[in-house]
Amino acid sequence: MSELEGVRIHITGVVQGVGFRPFVFGLASRLELLGWVRNTSAGVDLEVDGSPKAIRKFTQSLREEAPPLARIDEISVDRGEPYGFTEFQIIHSQPLEGAFQPISPDVSLCADCERELFDPKDRRYRYPFINCTNCGPRFTIITDIPYDRPNTTMEPFQMCPECSKEYYDPQDRRFHAQPVACPTCGPSIWLEVGGRKIAEREAALQEVRKRLQKGEVIAVKGLGGFHLACDATNLETVLELRRRKLRVDKAFAIMMPDLDTVEEHCDLCEEERKLLLSHERPIVIVPRKVESSVVADVAPGQDTLGVMLPYTPLHVLLLEKQPGFPPALVMTSGNVSEEPIATHNEEARVRLSDLSDAFLLHDRGIQTRCDDSVVRVFENNIYPLRRSRGYAPYPVHLRKEGIPLLAVGAELKNTFCLTRGKYAFLSHHIGDMENYETLISFEDGIQHLEKLFRVKPEALAYDLHPNYMATRYALERSEQENIPTIGVQHHHAHIAACMAENGLDGSRSVIGISFDGTGYGDDGAIWGGEIFLCDYRGYERLYHLAYIPLPGGDKAIYQPWRIAVAWLKRLGLEVGSLPSLREALDPEEVLIVQQQIEKNINAPLTSSMGRLFDAASAVCGVRHVVNYEAQAAIEFEALVDYEEKGLYDFIVREKDVDPAPLFQSLINDLNDGISRRKIAARFHNTVVQIVIDACLKIRDRFSVSDVALSGGVWQNMFLLSRTVSALRDLDFTVHIHHEVPTNDGGLALGQAVVALRTLDSA
Ligand code: ZN
Ligand code: ZN
Ligand code: FE
Repeated sequence: MSELEGVRIHITGVVQGVGFRPFVFGLASRLELLGWVRNTSAGVDLEVDGSPKAIRKFTQSLREEAPPLARIDEISVDRGEPYGFTEFQIIHSQPLEGAFQPISPDVSLCADCERELFDPKDRRYRYPFINCTNCGPRFTIITDIPYDRPNTTMEPFQMCPECSKEYYDPQDRRFHAQPVACPTCGPSIWLEVGGRKIAEREAALQEVRKRLQKGEVIAVKGLGGFHLACDATNLETVLELRRRKLRVDKAFAIMMPDLDTVEEHCDLCEEERKLLLSHERPIVIVPRKVESSVVADVAPGQDTLGVMLPYTPLHVLLLEKQPGFPPALVMTSGNVSEEPIATHNEEARVRLSDLSDAFLLHDRGIQTRCDDSVVRVFENNIYPLRRSRGYAPYPVHLRKEGIPLLAVGAELKNTFCLTRGKYAFLSHHIGDMENYETLISFEDGIQHLEKLFRVKPEALAYDLHPNYMATRYALERSEQENIPTIGVQHHHAHIAACMAENGLDGSRSVIGISFDGTGYGDDGAIWGGEIFLCDYRGYERLYHLAYIPLPGGDKAIYQPWRIAVAWLKRLGLEVGSLPSLREALDPEEVLIVQQQIEKNINAPLTSSMGRLFDAASAVCGVRHVVNYEAQAAIEFEALVDYEEKGLYDFIVREKDVDPAPLFQSLINDLNDGISRRKIAARFHNTVVQIVIDACLKIRDRFSVSDVALSGGVWQNMFLLSRTVSALRDLDFTVHIHHEVPTNDGGLALGQAVVALRTLDSA
């Protein structure tokens, strides 16, 4: 028998609430090691005695065989004399002052629980809140750390003896599963119509399914908030929902019962299948089949559908396949227009009463509002558009440790970011900060995450736009708490976010192509077509789109015809010379806009690439007015003829790129009767060429060949794929987003890393 040694091991990462201690217990028994394991507020600690060989195998297996939901960051091992243990035990959690650890995001129903859900002999047969250590709610129910039942919204539910037995048995799949529950002791569902409870439990579920089938809109309380659900194959219902939600034509997300059903309606690639089935269960934007029975008005003007699979047991039961039941439900967020989604029963009864015919409610509290995440697939890899439920608050890992800091993000699609050590905790989706409710949700979210991660910010990073609500929050708070602030230019933050998530250490500069809708520039203009040479500390603005007046300012975002008029004026053309505009616009309004430009009244200068797309789309008659941000560009992209290789001219000057020749040729094409599909392609090809020309010039001058692409315009998949492959063909190294969104939803991460580096070098 070989010599024994004793080791002390500390593990950090997502290791609590994921079945880690039972796994360690099992592994130790298998390798005949003695000792103990416990949770602390900083991770998992353990001490064991064993032969060096067994201990080596043990530490190796800790990583290799860890439970599916565990994400290990570090394992540190201290060797020494054996302790003299006589058994292996799981011992009590030890809270440590100020310590913290990452918290698991919410996890979709696991296969074992799904099997039990449909097993008539199981005591949780058809129970909508079944869960275990491998699945269930986490982030949305946690009120504080350590992650123990009293620190969750399950606190009011007293475990029954049977649940309790499972909870305390290390051999059980529900050992220390904090949300463990059953029909006897746990939360339940009920149906309300007109403020009256009309059914409970299974009867409520069946009644809701009947009503959905009949075409009603039902408010359904889910995991991170309410959805509005209705039959996605019923045109009348879908239109009615649009009318009630004041959402004229922004796409609705849908939920389908299983992957087979999705395959019937959409063309999927392997990575899309994987993402649909992943335990994060995001909405995946996928190409729709022409023969799909999902009504076109679910996603007007688009050839894609945003699809997700059921992620809670309640959703699985709600969508259960049966003859006559719709193959797809619209599951759009339960809110009016752009307000935050409702999370509490009382709030929903008030805010959603005009939107829904009935309420499917439950009594498990939602601590943190968490919208569904939205992703696409690009080059067989995830390309996030909204990072929230399932992903938040899992941290982005930083290259360098820094001080605790809060970056407040931007105005639209807001998220904020807290840093501590090497972790950057990017928040769940907060939304568009255009109303009081969203501001409250933002402030509550910051307070909650600061508590959960024990972060007391020592600095605040913010966007330079003086009127952003988030900016004002940062400036006010800095005054109250007397902590320093760092203003970070919007497009610098975009590029820095892309660099950070790609693990660049910043020792070498990159060419940052930030193509975006709106961002406040150093000179007070509205930037958004920016080509930088930059690192984390700063940037040099090498090229930008030539400035053009944006008549009406923010108003122009929703009225692309305004920027089109500005372009025609710049070229000395009459609006009347273009049938696509002449027929659509009110001559009087056009006159006012022209005067706005001439007299420079509320016509700020812009270099925005997003607005260039808007102008082209409006000139072509695709969209003169939009109902949601970037709609004109999205519909213009949908027109692109993939075979068309032509492009237009542009002028590269010392500091800027002038697209005037592009517009002149585009208008000539229109007058020559060239199809809009070809024109859309030529326009996109031109933008690709602008990037290529600029990158080649910069490489010649500065010998830099790393390119980072960030900003909302890179949600345009045609533009992205053509640009990436053209750059690669020329041997550039291209960095794009895979962890956080390329739109403003990823901005706070960039603000955080820029601020950390700025403080570092100060
Ligand atoms: Zn489970
Ligand atoms: Zn129970
Ligand atoms: Fe932006």
